[in-house]
Amino acid sequence: MLKQKKAKLEKITSLEACQECPAICCRDLAMSIGKPQTKEEVEDLKWQVRFDTVDIFIKQHHWYLRVKGKCMYLGKNNLCKIYEERPDKCKAHKAPNCERFGEYHEVLIKTPEELVAYLDRKKQRKNKKS
Ligand code: SF4
Ligand code: SF4
Repeated sequence: MLKQKKAKLEKITSLEACQECPAICCRDLAMSIGKPQTKEEVEDLKWQVRFDTVDIFIKQHHWYLRVKGKCMYLGKNNLCKIYEERPDKCKAHKAPNCERFGEYHEVLIKTPEELVAYLDRKKQRKNKKS
C-alpha cells in the first residue's frame, strides 16, 4: 500500500498535489519550540496543551507547538489569496513532504497527561542506558 502511494506521489508534481488538497497546511500554525528542559517549561507546555486547539508534535527530534486555526488568506476555494506574495515559510512547505501524505510527525501529544507520560518514558529509557 505504502509502495503504491509512493509510486503515485513520484508521478505528481507538488503543484498538482496542492491543487487537489483541501489546504491542510493552511489550517494550523506549527511553531518550533525547544524540548522542555526545566520543570517550569514542562508546566508551561502542560498548560498550553490543555486547550483543544493546541497540540505538540515531534518530528526528527524537533518539538513543535501546533495551534489549529485557518490562515486569514485562505480563500473559500482552498487557494491562497496572496499566493505570489505568500511568506517564505509557506513557499518552503511542499508536497509530498507535508501532512497530506503519510505521518507528518513521529510523536503527537494532545493532553498534559500524554506529555508527562512521554517525558517519563524518555527518562526511564535514559536511566536504563546509563
Ligand atoms: S503542501 Fe501538502 S498539505 Fe499543503 S496544500 Fe499542498 S498538498 Fe496540501
Ligand atoms: S499565506 Fe497562503 S499559503 Fe500561507 S498559510 Fe496563508 S493561505 Fe496558506
